[in-house]
Amino acid sequence: VMELSYWRSKWRKGNIGFHMENGYPGLAKHWNSLDFNDHSAVLVPLCGKSKDLIWLSEHCQKVVGVEISELAVEQFLDENSLRAKTSFFADFKIYQTKNIELWNGDFFKLPKKNLPTFDLVYDRAALVALPPDMRQRYAAKILNLISTNTQILLHHFEYQQREMAGPPFSVSVDEINKLYGHCFHLQILEKQDLDINYYKKFQNQGLQSYFIEILSLLLPNKEESTN
Ligand code: SAH
Repeated sequence: VMELSYWRSKWRKGNIGFHMENGYPGLAKHWNSLDFNDHSAVLVPLCGKSKDLIWLSEHCQKVVGVEISELAVEQFLDENSLRAKTSFFADFKIYQTKNIELWNGDFFKLPKKNLPTFDLVYDRAALVALPPDMRQRYAAKILNLISTNTQILLHHFEYQQREMAGPPFSVSVDEINKLYGHCFHLQILEKQDLDINYYKKFQNQGLQSYFIEILSLLLPNKEESTN
């Protein structure tokens, strides 16, 4: 089992290879593929201290990030020269700064109450951070938190899982369709066969065949008209 202590300890040790100094470039690049207006609210599960939160906050009305590590939240505020008001609700410490809310606690315990209706779920390095059994629980939790109009932007990797242990875990388009396909149709926005020679750390863990990066967009299935 992947315990929360595993992630807290990663943050304590600064062992955060998933963090991108300048955010994930695919976000701005594909933003116009989404069906949106400035009044949108975005959920960022397992947000770390992602710079994408800043970018999203400049393009949406409201951004809600959820992160288990308090250190990550504090570094996020610090590195972006932000000050936050804090409050407590359910099992969470909530940091509020501008139009960003960071919920510090276990995503699986996130209450539906006190959250806006989300137009978008932005999942970068979140689903792929979790082992298979937890991915099912995660998807169920996401489905529980969203509305019938919510879109999901999902960044994931595909590789031979037997070659290395993860995280990041390999999550195929097939698996995503199994997790979400009954409510969404999947559109691949970008698919890139990465040169594994740039991923020495993963090669050292056994990766050798391929490492594919995919950005998928899940659009909600609209109900068929009955007349
Ligand atoms: N999305 C971020 C971080 C990805 S790494 C980025 O793109 O940089 C996964 C993050 O999820 C870690 O920061 C970890 O601390 C956090 N995390 C893992 N399990 C969690 C859980 N159950 N609830 C909340 N956060 C969790």
